[in-house]
Amino acid sequence: MSENYSMTIGGEAVRAPGTFGVVDPATGEVAEQAPDASREQLDAAMAAAQAAYPAWRRDEAARRKALLAAADIMFTRSEEIGRIITLEQGKPLADATMEVVGAGVWLKYFADLELPAEVIQDDANARVEVVRRPMGVVAAITPWNFPLLLAIWKLAPALLAGNTMVLKPSPFTPLSSLKLGEVLRDVLPPGVLNVVTGGDELGAWMTSHDVPRKISFTGSVATGKRVAAAAAPDLKRVTLELGGNDPAILLDDVDPAAVAARLFGAAFQNNGQVCSAVKRVYAPASVYDDVVEALAEQARAAKVGEGTREGVQYGPINNEPQYERVGELVAEALAGGARAAAGGGPIDGPGYFFQPTILADVEDGARIVDEEQFGPALPVIRYTDLDEALARANGTHFGLSGSVWGADADRAAEVAAELECGTAWVNTHLALAPHQPFGGFKWSGVGVENGPWGLYGFTELQVIHRSKA
Ligand code: NAD
Repeated sequence: MSENYSMTIGGEAVRAPGTFGVVDPATGEVAEQAPDASREQLDAAMAAAQAAYPAWRRDEAARRKALLAAADIMFTRSEEIGRIITLEQGKPLADATMEVVGAGVWLKYFADLELPAEVIQDDANARVEVVRRPMGVVAAITPWNFPLLLAIWKLAPALLAGNTMVLKPSPFTPLSSLKLGEVLRDVLPPGVLNVVTGGDELGAWMTSHDVPRKISFTGSVATGKRVAAAAAPDLKRVTLELGGNDPAILLDDVDPAAVAARLFGAAFQNNGQVCSAVKRVYAPASVYDDVVEALAEQARAAKVGEGTREGVQYGPINNEPQYERVGELVAEALAGGARAAAGGGPIDGPGYFFQPTILADVEDGARIVDEEQFGPALPVIRYTDLDEALARANGTHFGLSGSVWGADADRAAEVAAELECGTAWVNTHLALAPHQPFGGFKWSGVGVENGPWGLYGFTELQVIHRSKA
């Protein structure tokens, strides 16, 4: 195997009996090899995390210090780690570097976050305190769209709360997590963070393993349901951050030219491979044509290419199955009468490149509207009645986030309050921050990440009741 990447188990670099290929999506060719962990190696990682737990949970000062040191590494080595993300994920180097910087920002935020203890009674009878305790070993499973940042969304709060972790990234993007394990070996005591890589079955082994007390999962709805089912017999706690099909509703006082760039950015960031990207736009008939044209103009101006090339805004789609799926959804919509106002298909040549695509004259019922496309193709749907648009926006199993856009922000906020989703934005979309809880209604998830609420998800409540009688 390649000597470049090893797993981290008990603070040591560990090779696996076998490897699997990691494809550079800009070429479609295998560019690196990653370790394919055996079941015994997963057992060893779980045992190391369990062994590290008692000392780690007791030393809050060491935990805060370690998270700050980890943040520093993210800031100082952002380009080096960013290059790895570009190689395996495809996104432009500037975005990949920003992902690493973002990881540092999240680590710093959690390093300073307090875990409050509340005194809920203190009288002649008793002093009753409610505190939060860590859970033990956390199994963290992540997807391929933001491989490093989404791992840190789990690692920072889980470790701060006093848990230890076994992390398994997506088989499409294992390298940045392997690197994370490597760069944190000097910062974290052995066993506090273990990183193992392999195929989907490694994730299934983790969710049915008897060591972890908590599974923190980010990925698709279908896998999330499997994770919940696997966790149930052992009553493992779960946080599930799943897919979205975010609607953006434009009101009739919207200025299409004024919002087009932001709306386009929120739909096409990371090539549309964002759980809470705008995935369908509802535009009133009065401004429909202008909205479609303003978005199409943005799409035509977008620079697509290899993530390592200067000035590129959008890289390839991350992997072949996803590339095929986006192509299929777009082709099906076009065959069903939709019009490609911009783009409409793959870009010839090697790699998984796809034209930024704006689809007009498309309706609910088309798969590209009803399902999560997770790629660079955006349907724009015409409406005449706002209540009906709201009903269509909410008429899905998804409920991650959504947005409402209009000149009258108060009116837009009133409409946004009707959205059934975890985050409702007004005149913006995809505004995420470490202090803002993020999670989904309905099939988009269970629990939240970020902010104190995300931290609480890695704790159990404990009551300390001291009798004074
Ligand atoms: P996926 O569900 O295919 O895979 C996610 C992870 O689960 C991978 O590490 C995979 O190896 C692992 N896995 C697969 N089968 C498993 C099993 N049976 N048990 C345990 N683990 C298993 O998702 P993906 O294609 O990598 O990611 C894209 C999806 O993730 C999209 O639906 C997107 O919306 C969602 N997502 C959600 C958020 C959020 O915060 N809500 C963020 C990013 C992505």
